[in-house]
Amino acid sequence: MYGTTAKHPEGQKSTSLFALCGVAATVILFGLVSVSQSNVQTQAYATSTLRPGAQILTARNAYGRGATHTTVAQAASVPAMAAIQSSELARPGHAYPKMSATFCAVALSAAAMAAFVSAMLRKKPAELLLPLPIAMAAASGKFVTDKSNEIFEEAKTLMPGGVSSPVRAFKSVGGNPIVFDRVKGAYCWDVDGNQYIDYVGSWGPAIVGHANDEVLDSLRETLKKGTSFGAPCALENVLAKMVIAAVPSVEMVRFTNSGTEACMGMLRMVRAYTKREKVIKFEGCYHGHADGFLVQAGSGVATLGLPDSPGVPAGATAGTLVAQYNDLASVEALLKNHEVAAVILEPVVGNSGFIPPTKEFLVGLRELTTKYGALLVFDEVMTGFRIAYGCAQSYFGVTPDVTTMGKVIGGGLPVGAYGGRKDIMSVVAPAGPPMYQAGTLSGNPLAMAAGIKTMEILQRPGSYEHLDKITKKLIAGILEAGREAGHDVCGGSISGMFGFFFCKGPVLNYQDATKSDTKKFARWHRLMLEHGVYLAPSQFEAGFTSLAHTEADIDKTIAIAREVMKKL
Ligand code: PMP
Repeated sequence: MYGTTAKHPEGQKSTSLFALCGVAATVILFGLVSVSQSNVQTQAYATSTLRPGAQILTARNAYGRGATHTTVAQAASVPAMAAIQSSELARPGHAYPKMSATFCAVALSAAAMAAFVSAMLRKKPAELLLPLPIAMAAASGKFVTDKSNEIFEEAKTLMPGGVSSPVRAFKSVGGNPIVFDRVKGAYCWDVDGNQYIDYVGSWGPAIVGHANDEVLDSLRETLKKGTSFGAPCALENVLAKMVIAAVPSVEMVRFTNSGTEACMGMLRMVRAYTKREKVIKFEGCYHGHADGFLVQAGSGVATLGLPDSPGVPAGATAGTLVAQYNDLASVEALLKNHEVAAVILEPVVGNSGFIPPTKEFLVGLRELTTKYGALLVFDEVMTGFRIAYGCAQSYFGVTPDVTTMGKVIGGGLPVGAYGGRKDIMSVVAPAGPPMYQAGTLSGNPLAMAAGIKTMEILQRPGSYEHLDKITKKLIAGILEAGREAGHDVCGGSISGMFGFFFCKGPVLNYQDATKSDTKKFARWHRLMLEHGVYLAPSQFEAGFTSLAHTEADIDKTIAIAREVMKKL
């Protein structure tokens, strides 16, 4: 029902028909291979003289680095040649009769043509560059990731775990990660030619859709002037003014290259400003991988079961206190007993899965921090410009003292930022009594340009309404599908951020989140992947939609979810 069609979000109408052709052609081809294997002399001859046909046969099992293969495009363009060459098989002294040779040519041509036409009708020209067996498997709906596997196996010998960032390795859901080839709009394609509806969006930055044409144009223009200045650039002022205008708590901003860097700078700054050392964070909240934050952190730390990472000196976390999310009493108990510089939180948690705050919790934190002389910091690296154009703080109407940002403000290029009241930001070098923080590539012109264009697009009327509408529909559909299939599920969304757990709920904090059935999540993840939906490969990550996702994408995803939920 959903097998072959769901895997290819575009052009599903023609898929089933050509899947049948592909399967029929495969059967013929396999029959042919059996016949050819029964005659070693003939097969040896074919391998040495009949290049297109021989390569198709050998590629069936030997596709890999350095292996020769015939692509669908080549095979489909040479049926006549194959027929001529196959007739050579019938030369005197060779075992195949002329009839079989002709049959061989016709079967190969039919197989190639079926895959060719299927690829064209499904608007997947990339398949034309695939080896014939893989393209035929794609046409028949079989999930093939041979190339991804091969690249990942090599990557493991080159980089720790084969990746540049841990969660990408699919450790918590099992199976190999797929290797991306390209992205556009709401979709991504892997190196094997599989297409997916993408709900990771590069972990948040792709809010206007991947490789948005306007963002690309802006990057092309900026690129003409160079890639890096290491000196002031006017685009920094433009993005800084946009951030200051949009985010209630920000009067001044410092750009960095990542969310981690922004949080590191923020941590030092709140300590420098308050002249206090202790900070409060929340169990399951992630603020990047700086030593001081790797205490009961979420995201990859939770995924890998590393509450505290080896290599973090005890001294580095001695100043970090941990409270429970959505639990004001746990915060006040710490504030009462310690001189606390700042209370730092994700205003909507994304790094333990999606966990919204109660309004009382955020309002209460504002009051408590003011009462005890601590700063309130919203880490909006994930929620910034995603929950609302003014970030989560404008959505909830609670203004922190300091805000960290990243992801969206870089429009897909590496950018982070921290900002806040002028008196606080004035301790940052080279201003004030300097708290030191710097960056060779900070304020990079390309990154600024991508961020500016992304923010311009987001400001257009209807942007957040669209995100909210499609994301609500998506999560409602997934939850309904889960319940219909008899699973315990709970979840939700705000604007373009969503998530759900395989448990009854409610999930108010990390402890609640760990009650989710992560084994079931792993099966869910794999089946969704196999049917063309790319979800974050961990129960403890939020999902993201973009302006490029259409209602049709959401409907397809829900239809797939309904079938997958029945199989868990
Ligand atoms: N803070 C939050 C809330 C995040 O979600 C992340 C990354 N997911 C970070 C900080 C770290 O950002 P980066 O990965 O860009 O270093």
